[in-house]
Amino acid sequence: MNTHPSKLALPDLRDECLDGAECLYDPELHDGPDDGGVIEHPHDQAAREDIAKDICGTCPVRNACLDYALRTKPNRGIWAGLTVDELATLTDSRAEHEPPATDRDAYRSVA
Ligand code: SF4
Repeated sequence: MNTHPSKLALPDLRDECLDGAECLYDPELHDGPDDGGVIEHPHDQAAREDIAKDICGTCPVRNACLDYALRTKPNRGIWAGLTVDELATLTDSRAEHEPPATDRDAYRSVA
């Protein structure tokens, strides 16, 4: 049985993400151009990100990637099919639905 990505230490989770990651074939597609400060036109960026999101949709390590991104809070790129703004919204949404710390601690003590 595999360990759930949420239970993995960050280095292990990173290794799991890299094992089979579809974006390894063209990292610039997911992370944007690295061309010495030239700004990408918004239309080009949107088109590139749409393609990157499609590729994430077929990636076998998408769940591990999402968990890694939620933990590390990247500041650029497409991760698990989401922009960094979409990741932040998801993080905020999850935080709103978490029980208060005292309830969470009580649950952990019996789990
Ligand atoms: S889900 Fe997307 S960003 Fe994450 S490893 Fe796969 S291809 Fe790369």
